[in-house]
Amino acid sequence: MTLLELKKAVVAANKELPKQNLVKYSWGNVGAIDREKGVVVIKPVGMPYEELTVDNVSVTDLDGKILEGPFNPSVDLPIHLVLFKAFPQVNAIVHTHSTYATMWAQAGFDIPCLGTTHADYFYKSIPCTRQLTDKEINGNFEVETGNVIVERFKDLDPVAVPGVLVASHGVFTWGSDVWDAVHKSVVLEEIAKMALGTRLLNPSIGPVPNSLMDRHYFRKHGANAYFDHDDHGHGMVDHD
Ligand SMILES: [Zn+2]
Repeated sequence: MTLLELKKAVVAANKELPKQNLVKYSWGNVGAIDREKGVVVIKPVGMPYEELTVDNVSVTDLDGKILEGPFNPSVDLPIHLVLFKAFPQVNAIVHTHSTYATMWAQAGFDIPCLGTTHADYFYKSIPCTRQLTDKEINGNFEVETGNVIVERFKDLDPVAVPGVLVASHGVFTWGSDVWDAVHKSVVLEEIAKMALGTRLLNPSIGPVPNSLMDRHYFRKHGANAYFDHDDHGHGMVDHD
């Protein structure tokens, strides 16, 4: 993929966030990495989605140095950089404050696997990070936000669990490319909505049995997958 192709993908994926009702105003961003070239493409800070183009999208190196683009990159760039460095399988990251996922994040709860929609995409719970300490909040806040995500994944596989809730903040998802990452954001928001409603109807309901989680997850993922062609996020938008 050329840099121009990556820029086009990042621009289109960012514009998909308001279309999927995942963001208001400019509350969210998509970033992607070209690991061979060592560059990251991300939405500029505060830019309305409709104004985003391949000529004003930000291109940086892995230290956050601006290589292309007339504006500063998203303030969340350092979070993306921490995650790209920690999760080598991840090539694109989406950050939003989508309503239902953020409710769980603000409550400080992991989203338990309450049904097969969840099990199809996320293996077991969708984790929530710990709160940042005062020292972390007053220090290098964005880097520390990335660090608490990485800390939460110490014993988790970011491919099997392609998203996280950041306590009191919002949600990050990731994937092999921008469409995979946006797709996971849409799915996670729906799962969060269903889980809230399920818990309201039955506050004592627990996770589905491990057998059902495994059946649903592993029929779509891993060496013995037999049902992995139904959707992948591609085709959500017309991207040229
Ligand atoms: Zn945020």
